[in-house]
Amino acid sequence: VLRLEQLCKSFGNLEVLKNIDLEVRRGETIVLLGASGSGKSTLLRCVNFLEIPTSGRIILQGEVVGRQSKGRTVYSEQDLTQIRKRVGMVFQHFNLFPHMTVAQNVMEGPRTVLGLSRTECRQRATKHLDKVGLGWKADAYPAHLSGGQQQRVAIARALAMEPEVMLFDEVTSALDPELVGEVLETMKELADEGMTMMIVTHELGFAYTVADRVLFLSEGRILEEGTPTDVLTNPQETATQSFLRSHS
Ligand code: ATP
Ligand code: MG
Repeated sequence: VLRLEQLCKSFGNLEVLKNIDLEVRRGETIVLLGASGSGKSTLLRCVNFLEIPTSGRIILQGEVVGRQSKGRTVYSEQDLTQIRKRVGMVFQHFNLFPHMTVAQNVMEGPRTVLGLSRTECRQRATKHLDKVGLGWKADAYPAHLSGGQQQRVAIARALAMEPEVMLFDEVTSALDPELVGEVLETMKELADEGMTMMIVTHELGFAYTVADRVLFLSEGRILEEGTPTDVLTNPQETATQSFLRSHS
């Protein structure tokens, strides 16, 4: 579904991603681990073009995003809009619109970005709120929801665009511990339903149960990758071993 080839990203002369090659298959769940500053967020942000890669290619459903000009890849506004429609992202801070109800929050993308009719938007909102178990909160305002519920609304909002790939960046890190489980459960259900996902998380138990593949990022490179058992139980690299020791 998604392929990254020789992807590089620098900020000034700081090289944050160094030649990332990665193929994500349809229905696959990939968990990205790595120390703070290793480039996990930057990698996800490059995949949906919140950051423009410095070089390398992103290929979605067999099509290269952007076009070549004088040996460099350039991206048009249309390319970026296309990608953001097709790749959903959920962040640590969910940023729901406080003045809109839960249902209105979920309908906003389908209405403004996809241009669907009000009826279609409402149907999508109902469907995706039901999926995250919050159909009954459709008319509530975000401030009246728990943090875990707000994060599940943020997931429903991303799903309502019916993306081909979903990206999750530490979506439980800002939650009270007792609210983490319900959000992880929602993500697990999505994985089981065959959604293609890339997840950054420090919840290693969750990583173990949800991931088809675990990647360990170190200083902007994929240092180690494999099944959860390979990487989490039998890590080969010392950097992976010490990361796991400090997070267990
Ligand atoms: P964390 O676990 O703390 O979230 P991370 O693995 O997600 O870390 P990134 O946020 O991808 O790490 O950051 C990787 C490096 O890139 C860091 O050194 C960071 O300071 C730098 N960086 C990230 N975004 C920018 C930016 N917009 N401008 C300059 N430097 C940046
Ligand atoms: Mg990060």
